[in-house]
Amino acid sequence: MIDLRSDTVTRPTPGMRQAMADALVGDDVYEEDPAVNELEAYCARLTGKEAALFVTSGTQGNQVAVLTHMRQGEEIIMDDRAHVFLYEGGATAALAGVQSRTLPSEKGQIAIDDIAAAVRMSDVHFPDTGLIWLENTHNKSGGSVLSPDYMAKVADLAKEHQIPVHMDGARLFNASVATGIPVSEIAKHTTTVQFCLSKGLGAPVGSILAGDRAFIERARKWRKRLGGGLRQAGVLAAPALLALKNGFNFIETDHDHAKQLARAVSELDGFYIENTVETNMVLVNTKETGKTSEDWVAEMKRQGVLAVPYGPYTIRLTTHRDLDQTAIKDAISGITKARHQLKG
Ligand SMILES: *Cc1c(COP(=O)(O)O)cnc(C)c1O
Repeated sequence: MIDLRSDTVTRPTPGMRQAMADALVGDDVYEEDPAVNELEAYCARLTGKEAALFVTSGTQGNQVAVLTHMRQGEEIIMDDRAHVFLYEGGATAALAGVQSRTLPSEKGQIAIDDIAAAVRMSDVHFPDTGLIWLENTHNKSGGSVLSPDYMAKVADLAKEHQIPVHMDGARLFNASVATGIPVSEIAKHTTTVQFCLSKGLGAPVGSILAGDRAFIERARKWRKRLGGGLRQAGVLAAPALLALKNGFNFIETDHDHAKQLARAVSELDGFYIENTVETNMVLVNTKETGKTSEDWVAEMKRQGVLAVPYGPYTIRLTTHRDLDQTAIKDAISGITKARHQLKG
């Protein structure tokens, strides 16, 4: 099976397994785990923030950010296809008691004027705007990268209104590798940033939330409240640190692989590629075949390729660290076979 469902399916490399075995550990709730402390310090430097916190997942990192930035009854401005809106179980409402002000966007970029118009005036009737949300790369539009110019404009607007900006950077490293812009340069437009260790980097577990020191101190308490205070978490931090320290240029290969997949799939009758393939995702539209994404995902599975439905007629293919050139060739031949097998 060639697994193109997500970049979360990677297994730890032998080096990561060794790093897990060798990790110096302690009780991280007492802030005494050397590997976690090293990872947090490393990630603070990497993002250009004062401090960082190891959290169990991207979802936990995002939710800790919301809980730390906001109070009940406030409002977050976000795009209407944000992961936090679509795929986090309504946690912002369920846990933080805040409401989402969702606006349409072009590949995750809401028009600046629309954001400005959505910022609430001070009025007894209104919720206060407590946070502006960015997602980079933008998952639902197929891993597209936010432009630096756009992020700078959002940052300016937010500053003018004294509203913090959080970036859901689950795939921040993909954005950095695709543009050649260092992670800290991307993160400088934000108050806080979350990135996943368990996606493009290929580490087994965890995410990082970074921001200023006072914010991270309060975030640490929210993490504990949510049950995210781990003990000898160094066994999880060590493989992540290894992935970061060895440089993450291998992500470029994932992007090349996605482009190869897109080229090959676009030549198959009835399939077209919906997204500009900027990073590690390909959105395949199946509408012209007369079959749904569910039909195609089932047929591709019979041909040895796993993908996910991403809309009634959209399939998402995601490349990752565990795929080599042979796997990509096999995926292309499996998808080609599927196309010949299932007639519209
Ligand atoms: C995967 C993802 C998350 C959540 O990460 P988990 O570790 O799966 O909880 C958040 N935001 C985006 C954009 C993602 O792609």
